[in-house]
Amino acid sequence: MNVLVINAGSSSLKYQLINVETHEVRARGICEKVGYEDSFHKHGFGENEVVNHVHMANHTEAIHQVLVCLTSGPNKAVDSLDAIDAVGHRIVQGGSYFDHSVRINDDVIEKISELTELAPLHNGAALMGIEACMSQMPGKPEVAVFDSAFFQTLPPTAYIYPIPYEYYEKYQIRRYGAHGTSHRYVAIQAAKFLGKPLEELQLITCHLGNGCSMSAIDHGVAVDTSMGLTPLDGLMMGTRCGAIDPAIVTFIEDHEDLSPQAMNDLMNKKSGLLGISGISNDMRSIDEAAQAGNERAHLACDMYAYSAKKYIGQYLAVMGGADAIILTAGVGENSASIREKIFSGLDTLGIELDLELNQARGGEREISTPHSQVRILVIPTNEEYMIAHDTYDVLKANI
Ligand code: AMP
Repeated sequence: MNVLVINAGSSSLKYQLINVETHEVRARGICEKVGYEDSFHKHGFGENEVVNHVHMANHTEAIHQVLVCLTSGPNKAVDSLDAIDAVGHRIVQGGSYFDHSVRINDDVIEKISELTELAPLHNGAALMGIEACMSQMPGKPEVAVFDSAFFQTLPPTAYIYPIPYEYYEKYQIRRYGAHGTSHRYVAIQAAKFLGKPLEELQLITCHLGNGCSMSAIDHGVAVDTSMGLTPLDGLMMGTRCGAIDPAIVTFIEDHEDLSPQAMNDLMNKKSGLLGISGISNDMRSIDEAAQAGNERAHLACDMYAYSAKKYIGQYLAVMGGADAIILTAGVGENSASIREKIFSGLDTLGIELDLELNQARGGEREISTPHSQVRILVIPTNEEYMIAHDTYDVLKANI
């Protein structure tokens, strides 16, 4: 089955065409700056990547571009749209409605739309992606895969915020979590790597990239996660502050005369690694600057790692231990120096990083010492494959 995986952002649209049975990625690409004059479309792999500077006024036009490139031209992946069996959409916010992936129908669209208030940029964009696919591939089965669904198993002690309970009842303000598709994928792969059923394992999964989140997975069930009502909560990230003293919000609003929207922007787009280093949100640039002696870049790296270290402690306490800690995403998979900072001093908790293995590169691998009671694994994430696979499962089961 060939599944077209769509990940629509507010001004971008990423896609992959995946053969679920063979795992083959038959095409991939991204439309960027959708809605802007200088929009462009990258399609293909490595040396064969083609960049088309084509105006895409909206997601409908972006999907049109994608479908044209998938079915014609030098980099075409299939002969016609008939060879695309289904479409899987990444949806950030499924609220309390969705604890698994579902086939898209009018009711599902209405619920995603209702949840837009909780993820304005993401759910709104996903809806545009869905509508564009429906209009250009009428009748093609479409499936929604929710980032929040994996965390619907959290107990109320973990998902209710200690604010007046009426706001949970009135507005459904609670922890929903995000990156669930990534956490679920790496947990499944880790269980395979360890040769044990997921249901017998206690795992701490760390998605450390530009966005960062961690979760505690107890015998196959997510019991806590760091992202909250929105993806702003939890760890320090590339441009997001993560959890801070809530009183800082009103303090800065008052002293800097900022509107709530401007404050929201400050916390989402100007904080984290970027806010501390003043250089960039990109770990590679910050690492370089830190090595060249830039103190704020150094501080930013230390804080990023410290934030992850603290959550490891929290989740060890939540589960009463762990069999393995899994690292994934851009920084988790690639930055040996951040991993070293995260795991330094944890030997007394039975967590021992092997400094040599930590330097090795590659795919799925173990980087803890043979004596480490808690194993440390690097598992490259593959959210697109998980979405394609869910799409296949949902259609097969006719959910
Ligand atoms: P992601 O959001 O998963 O795409 O991750 C993006 C982050 O991963 C950026 O901060 C990158 O700088 C970082 N990253 C990617 N490759 C490396 C690397 N080799 N070393 C350090 N950081 C990296």
